[in-house]
Amino acid sequence: MSNGVSDVQERAGRNESRYRNLNERMEPSNAVHVWVDPPMPDWICECASTECMKPVRLTLAEYEAVRAESTHFLVVPSDEHLSPVVERVVQRNERYWVVEKFGEAAEVSEALDPRSHDT
Ligand SMILES: [Zn+2]
Repeated sequence: MSNGVSDVQERAGRNESRYRNLNERMEPSNAVHVWVDPPMPDWICECASTECMKPVRLTLAEYEAVRAESTHFLVVPSDEHLSPVVERVVQRNERYWVVEKFGEAAEVSEALDPRSHDT
């Protein structure tokens, strides 16, 4: 009971600095999530239409994530750019959709994937 008050104060002080330290560490990691314009801000829609050259906005990291799968393609977020016969949407957001080719289309896209060949 004699040191009850100082105990509380000490604990409060320790907690406060712990939160402050957390916040200090939070700042730089939050900055990572700030939109950074990628070197190529506009990618081209990869839908089945050969005439379609609509720009799609992705960060480089998002683009790389799509490219990681040879059956995945990025398209403008609209049904007009979707060919449900050969592909299905696997990811949607307000800037782009990721479609996955299946069946023969998937085999073709795997065969044509420039990243699966050494050049
Ligand atoms: Zn398109």
